Amino acid sequence: MDHFLYRDGCLHAEDVAISQIAAEVGTPFYLYSSATLLRHFKLFDDALAGMDHLICYAMKAASNQAILTLLGAAGAGMDVVSGGEYARARAAGIPGDRIVFSGVGKTRAEMTEVLTGGVRQFNVESEPEMRALSEVASMLGKTAPITIRVNPDVDAKTHAKISTGKKEDKFGIPISRAREVYAMAARLPGLEVVGIDVHIGSQLTDLAPYGVAYEKVAELTELLRADGHDIRRLDLGGGLGIPYESNNHHPPSPEDYCALIAEKVGHLGCEIEIEPGRFIAGNAGVFVSEVIYVKQGEDREFLIVDGAMNDLIRPAMYDAHHDIVPIKAPAAGTEYQAYDVVGPVCESGDTFAKGRALAPLKAGDLIAFRSAGAYGAVMASEYNTRPLVPEVMVKGDQFAVIRPRPSLEDIINRDIIPQWH
Ligand SMILES: *Cc1c(COP(=O)(O)O)cnc(C)c1O
Repeated sequence: MDHFLYRDGCLHAEDVAISQIAAEVGTPFYLYSSATLLRHFKLFDDALAGMDHLICYAMKAASNQAILTLLGAAGAGMDVVSGGEYARARAAGIPGDRIVFSGVGKTRAEMTEVLTGGVRQFNVESEPEMRALSEVASMLGKTAPITIRVNPDVDAKTHAKISTGKKEDKFGIPISRAREVYAMAARLPGLEVVGIDVHIGSQLTDLAPYGVAYEKVAELTELLRADGHDIRRLDLGGGLGIPYESNNHHPPSPEDYCALIAEKVGHLGCEIEIEPGRFIAGNAGVFVSEVIYVKQGEDREFLIVDGAMNDLIRPAMYDAHHDIVPIKAPAAGTEYQAYDVVGPVCESGDTFAKGRALAPLKAGDLIAFRSAGAYGAVMASEYNTRPLVPEVMVKGDQFAVIRPRPSLEDIINRDIIPQWH
């Protein structure tokens, strides 16, 4: 459930008419509902209430400071995948002991930044990385708390570009080699093993792969404990899917997911961490755009809108579906017609939807791409010198621009023409 509903014939974000925001901010823009963000966070937090736990929001999904601050104040930790994200989390007031650092390519500079600033744990993804971290920590006279990310070789049955837990994926170490690698970790100076990490992919719409992965983690916990490691924390990753199509069956709920966690690993007495990103932010955001032209093609009608693939790349990159809805509610009984919804960028890939049935639209009409809160604004670029889209947040009857649209002057002046001598 989200807080984007029609009221008085106009799509609202909480208590604000989206048409009003569009008039003040200009299109295109991203729009987040703070109530929805908090609601999604709380679903997980409540569902895990019976266990010692921390929800580390995977901030790569949507990392505006206003979002981080909101979730941080509600008690969220953060899963960060770069020094940049770490700096953002700290700037949003998240204490180091609520931040986990994931990612396959952590640099020594990032390790230094994070160890110095304070961190809950590093999720180590390879032996070379583990050796580097041991060296950096020893040099700084610090101890780095670590988990090792194991790759359970489970097919998450999701899009190939967001599957991360099969043996051919670049993530983690093979679970079959885990005991050996944990033994190595125990021997290296500057490291303290605190647990196990696993993350098998994104947009999972079935709990079965989680079940298989978490069983393997539970078995491994017993084995590693028998080997003498103090496994006291399990980071079970993120990846719970969301409904992108309103008329689709609904993916598992946080309640079901957390019940599975309790069933598979609850008996181990470990502290539980999860790293949801998409589930928290996805349906808490929409991407609002205006129709520029309706163009009659040879055998189809194109809806040319002012948003483009550089603003919302998911359809081009993952063949992702986003429901498209008019801001002005269509009259009851309106006949729908098929449109190809495209942006102005000079690429055929700049297509949001083909043959999509929509209520008839004309130039100047506003539309919203739903479920655009996660992996939307964060993946935007300025391709075609289209300014990064602004981000707006709503809280009740108030809205605030949380990242303004840069001016063309800002963009042009970022470049430097060399003065050769
Ligand atoms: C991307 C990522 C997540 C979040 O995935 P979602 O599908 O957005 O929940 C969690 N943990 C790690 C390590 C990730 O890379």
